[in-house]
Amino acid sequence: MMVSELDLSRVRVVLMHTSHPGNIGAVARAMKNMGLSQLYLVKPDLFPHSMATSRASGADDLLASAIVVETLDEALADCCFVVGASARLRSISWPVHNPHECAERMLEASEDGDVALVMGREQSGLSNEELERCNYLVNIPANPEYSSLNLAAATQVLTYELRMAALARLEIKKVAAKKDYRLATMAEMDGLYEHFEVALTDIRFLNPASPRKLMRRLRRLFNRAQLDEMEVNILRGILSAAQGQKYHYEKEDKS
Ligand code: SAH
Repeated sequence: MMVSELDLSRVRVVLMHTSHPGNIGAVARAMKNMGLSQLYLVKPDLFPHSMATSRASGADDLLASAIVVETLDEALADCCFVVGASARLRSISWPVHNPHECAERMLEASEDGDVALVMGREQSGLSNEELERCNYLVNIPANPEYSSLNLAAATQVLTYELRMAALARLEIKKVAAKKDYRLATMAEMDGLYEHFEVALTDIRFLNPASPRKLMRRLRRLFNRAQLDEMEVNILRGILSAAQGQKYHYEKEDKS
């Protein structure tokens, strides 16, 4: 199985009517640090601007490729999943997730197409019409007495979670690709435990008249280890050898 590298290219950040150009630059930097590259600007007050470029500090390529549009709908038209970042929890109930859950859902949806994270205005956040475009809201559970983060700081937290979620997904894929043997089935595990019981009796480790809790403890030990089919074979080979039966380990190991 081919495992692709970490890819956040389908996740775009959309900034609504940003008033401070320095914030746009700081968002570009936060995004590039986390491996995102698609920046959409809906009617920014001042852009391009030297303050944006200086705050981007090396992430000015994201500013150069930023797409400036007139309306939120234009920024979202080709997206299949939209999340709005909100500092306030609204009176009308809209489903809200924390950054971790939100990142998981965005990445899952990004397998079908582009997804968007919409960030509100510095002064007034997202309007009700804007949040109606969103599948979900995401809220950073900050200090309730001072919950509104700076625009770029909020973007940093949310894109960090996206990166963490992407890294976790990649790790799972890598482990799956490396796996050489499947997990043992319950029937195979039962075969192993039966073999243990007979072999341990044969070698006089287990006294069937007074078994105590030995088999249960062994079950607990091996269940915790989540054995694969080859590991079961190895253990059964060792048991056979202890019972004095011939067993050629080399024959079975593919690696
Ligand atoms: N004064 C505005 C908040 C502006 S902060 C208000 O009350 O809505 C600018 C943007 O940063 C917000 O619209 C939101 O998109 C994001 N943001 C700031 N703090 C956040 C938080 N705690 N959780 C989620 N997003 C947040």
